[in-house]
Amino acid sequence: MILFKNCRLVGALTEGYEGEFADILVDDNDIIAEIAAPGSIDAGEIPTVDAGHQTLLPGFFDLHAHLCLTDLDFKELRNRSCVDSCFEMYDFAREYLKQGYTTVRDAGGPFNVTAGLKKAANRKTICIPDIISSGEILTPTEVGNETFSSLYCPADSPFEVRKACRRQFELGNDVIKYMVTGAYLNEAGNPGDVIATEDELREAVRVAQLKGSYVMGHAHGAEGIKLAIRCGLRTIEHGSFIDEEAIGMLLNTDQTYLVPTAAIGLACIDDSGDTLSDDAVDKSKKYEAMEKECVNRAYRAGLKMGFGSDIDRKNFCLHPGMEFYARREWFDFDTLDILLQATKYSAEIAGLADRKGTIRKGKNAEFVIVEGKPDQDIYAMKQLPLYVYFKGELLQNR
Ligand SMILES: [Zn+2]
Repeated sequence: MILFKNCRLVGALTEGYEGEFADILVDDNDIIAEIAAPGSIDAGEIPTVDAGHQTLLPGFFDLHAHLCLTDLDFKELRNRSCVDSCFEMYDFAREYLKQGYTTVRDAGGPFNVTAGLKKAANRKTICIPDIISSGEILTPTEVGNETFSSLYCPADSPFEVRKACRRQFELGNDVIKYMVTGAYLNEAGNPGDVIATEDELREAVRVAQLKGSYVMGHAHGAEGIKLAIRCGLRTIEHGSFIDEEAIGMLLNTDQTYLVPTAAIGLACIDDSGDTLSDDAVDKSKKYEAMEKECVNRAYRAGLKMGFGSDIDRKNFCLHPGMEFYARREWFDFDTLDILLQATKYSAEIAGLADRKGTIRKGKNAEFVIVEGKPDQDIYAMKQLPLYVYFKGELLQNR
């Protein structure tokens, strides 16, 4: 058991308790046992963390992570060995935990490392955020695929897609990631172009559903977004050029959600490390205004969105809280909505809302204690959290 006392709670992220301040008792299975007024739980001999009236948030989600992205130098990534990948990806997973992320949906990586990390975490060999693993990314054969060749599994035709999907599940992955349109960061890619076909996508969805799972679709252009919605993909990743029709389709369904990615946008425009290709930077600049406008329009229409960053470890560590403030600067989202996207909404989209996403008696004790009031000032997220609590491990950053 452990007691967190003098916690400031955010109403929109708390269920079953009304006050602004509380003590929270955690049982031996790391479940929230009780939320009560400060001072009302008899601590006795229980270890206690005093939050000092700072804000306690539920653990964060990154629904679009790439644990393999050490930096934005994709040539190094292409030639990296399996062993090196394991350590690099473990390291990034720990950084995620340090910044308060307790669930990371990996959107594609090499050598099936994420499935291996999950196994090691289940054995309690390592303590890392819960991983939702997609393994290798399914993609049509395309010029430019070599940029991410170590992450990709090319598949053309429904038959190849069926085999490739089954293979990802066989290897211990949880979901399927699919390239529906071209990309910014692979050099020949045109983000507006549809590259997958309807029969291929429907086959991927069919195989995933047999496993009780779903497909996450990389889609920038509006036609690709609409194709993905029609085929029943669960999430639209990026959604950069979403149009009115696609927004209307998403408003009318509860089977597909948008996961915009802001941090990578900021990083590509401000490539101070000079690691990106000129082509990638040019494309990012060319589409910047359009992407901001389209995603903001989808937000104003009232879409429930997930939290995804697509960011590399170097930028992630250099800029704590990057995805939080990037959503303000890139998409002009409101502060409280950004926090909801990082927690409650992403938990719902990932199908984990029964255990995660809010502070509620009976849910997992996954806590992030942040100095200040991030529900009023998103830039409070620029400091590392004071404490992160996950699976019995208490990380103290300062
Ligand atoms: Zn990605």
